[in-house]
Amino acid sequence: MADNLRIAVIGAGMGGLSTALSLAKAGHKNITVYENASNLGFVGAGIQLAPNMAKILDRLGCWQKIAAEAVQCANTYIREGATNKELGFVDLAYVEKTYKYPHMVGHRSSLAGGLYDGCVKEEGIAFKFSSQISDIKFGSSPSFKVTPRDGEAHRVECDILLGADGIKSNTRTALLQENGQTGTVKDSGQAAYRIMPTREQMAHDPELLALIDSETVTRWIGERKHIIAYPIQNNTIYNISTLQPDVNFAGAPDSTYTTQGSKSAMLEVFGDFCPMIHRLLNLVPDGEVCEWKLRLHDPLPTWVHDSTALVGDACHPTLPHMAQGAAQAIEDGAVLGVVLSPSRISDCSPSTINHALRLYEQLRKPRAEAIVELAAENGRAMHLGAGKAKEERDKAFAALKSGPGKVPDKWADAGVQAIVYGTDVIVEAEKLCDEAGLVAKL
Ligand SMILES: Cc1cc2nc3c(=O)[nH]c(=O)nc-3n(C[C@H](O)[C@H](O)[C@H](O)COP(=O)(O)OP(=O)(O)OC[C@H]3O[C@@H](n4cnc5c(N)ncnc54)[C@H](O)[C@@H]3O)c2cc1C
Repeated sequence: MADNLRIAVIGAGMGGLSTALSLAKAGHKNITVYENASNLGFVGAGIQLAPNMAKILDRLGCWQKIAAEAVQCANTYIREGATNKELGFVDLAYVEKTYKYPHMVGHRSSLAGGLYDGCVKEEGIAFKFSSQISDIKFGSSPSFKVTPRDGEAHRVECDILLGADGIKSNTRTALLQENGQTGTVKDSGQAAYRIMPTREQMAHDPELLALIDSETVTRWIGERKHIIAYPIQNNTIYNISTLQPDVNFAGAPDSTYTTQGSKSAMLEVFGDFCPMIHRLLNLVPDGEVCEWKLRLHDPLPTWVHDSTALVGDACHPTLPHMAQGAAQAIEDGAVLGVVLSPSRISDCSPSTINHALRLYEQLRKPRAEAIVELAAENGRAMHLGAGKAKEERDKAFAALKSGPGKVPDKWADAGVQAIVYGTDVIVEAEKLCDEAGLVAKL
């Protein structure tokens, strides 16, 4: 029976969790998620919950709880970092009216916890934490080595293998090797500081208090850097994410992604930003600055080999400037739930499974890669230095005062949002399956 096919998911990040949950909701009963870490262990930080993500989470039955802990973004300001001067303002009320879900912001642990709670309610999903996966073999019965932290290493065979193992993906490396290809992680030249002052820390300063008591996403921009900030956890935490040229990771090995950042280095990088931002950044205690290296990957020749496919950052790592990386990983999971639905692959044959995975790739690869490019473009537009291009950008921001128009911050542009939020990947996947003859059989 197709619903008993052995499905292995590597990685319990947003991609792995949503994949496992979508497959279980589609009727699969034999899914195992292997995770290297001993628990979900997410870096404490906020995350934007865009409407395209919310729509899928709602269908998976876990949106209500996540939304209850999140904060709705009513509007967004784009400000000049050096002066705090308003460059542009966008009222985001139309987002909910247009896409049925508002744009919300939340805590990573809340998003991951909501997905995980959904998974543990499903009898068909088992988790193996503290289990490192390596030595992946392809074919119609893919297999891999599992090295549990407290146990004997052993090999596991499955019928479908889904590599949701993040930007450092072993599955991707093995899949490329199998095809005689190599892929390299690209240095974006950018790094991000993540800090999270609390309401108590901000309460003494009326300007800062107004920020955390708002429903506003604020981007303060400057040459080659910016800060994006918004309140999360029912306005008790102010999530701040910066973006600046990478200095500290420059010589670090490719495997280094996060480190304890230096508060004084952070204050120096944003030394030319306005005094209010200094007061804000100064709130973080020494030792609580987290620094992330932002790495990318060239588009891959393929995401699929035999009965194995890649998911999420493993195949489309995305810069944070469109706040879409996790949303796109969740879209991957949703589409896998459609194409691999037991009724569509009812003959259980490796060729049908491969056909289904190829349809997944056909639908997801162009969209995810277009969003990777959009995010990179948005970073370039936000980081302009003095010159004609910056003047044009700021004029376009200013023109928003006299009515709706193109927003230079693509994240807040209604035309771009129509593509990003307005696409229903589940409906598209069902349509593609029908067109390709992968029809549901009772
Ligand atoms: C600064 C910053 C801000 C961002 N903001 C947003 C945002 O606002 N909205 C948004 O949608 N996205 C955002 N993103 C992107 C988002 O965080 C990622 O795209 C998303 O988390 C990727 O999920 P994933 O499951 O593909 O990978 P990961 O979250 O990296 O998960 C991979 C998992 O696989 C496990 N693993 C890896 N190798 C192995 C192995 N060999 N064996 C077993 N387990 C293994 C890892 O431990 C990990 O748990 C942001 C990213 C950054 C850097």
